[in-house]
Amino acid sequence: MVAASGPDPLRPDADPDRGYARVRRSGKSIAALLMDQKVAAGVGNIFRAEVLFRHRIDPATPGREIDHRTWRVLWDDLVDLMAYAKVHGRIDTVRDEHSPEAQGRPARVDRHGGEVYVYRRADLPCHVCGTPVRSSTLEGRNLYWCPKCQRRKSAPVPDRRNRLDVHGVEPLLSRPVRP
Ligand SMILES: [Zn+2]
Repeated sequence: MVAASGPDPLRPDADPDRGYARVRRSGKSIAALLMDQKVAAGVGNIFRAEVLFRHRIDPATPGREIDHRTWRVLWDDLVDLMAYAKVHGRIDTVRDEHSPEAQGRPARVDRHGGEVYVYRRADLPCHVCGTPVRSSTLEGRNLYWCPKCQRRKSAPVPDRRNRLDVHGVEPLLSRPVRP
């Protein structure tokens, strides 16, 4: 018997609390849980690394130490990031203040396109604090994080100005994508 898959951030009718019901009971790390299809469908390696960075969450934090508000902050950001990627065909996770233009640095060269904070940036300086990005293997997948920026177990209160919906992503979830 196949267990039902978890809520999908790309579906407007998804219920993130179904995912949280598993997270809050688990001693596994939030980094591992975000890759569990029963917790959330289709998150993948890039988004889990980036969403944890964006909210300063230590990837080793056990699920049972992730409070409900933090889960919802992570979820809402996954919705934005994944919708943006679907609409634009590239994955961008850096806030405007950390863009190549704002920081005067070269743009990223990667087949995924887009600008990211930590994914596949092992040993390169963190865009926020300059500390070398760390990587390790977790359940067979590479995990990337900044050991200085990501020390929190709960997310800071989100700053609306930093949401990607300034690019018009959020409305696109509920209406057809224009060419
Ligand atoms: Zn950092």
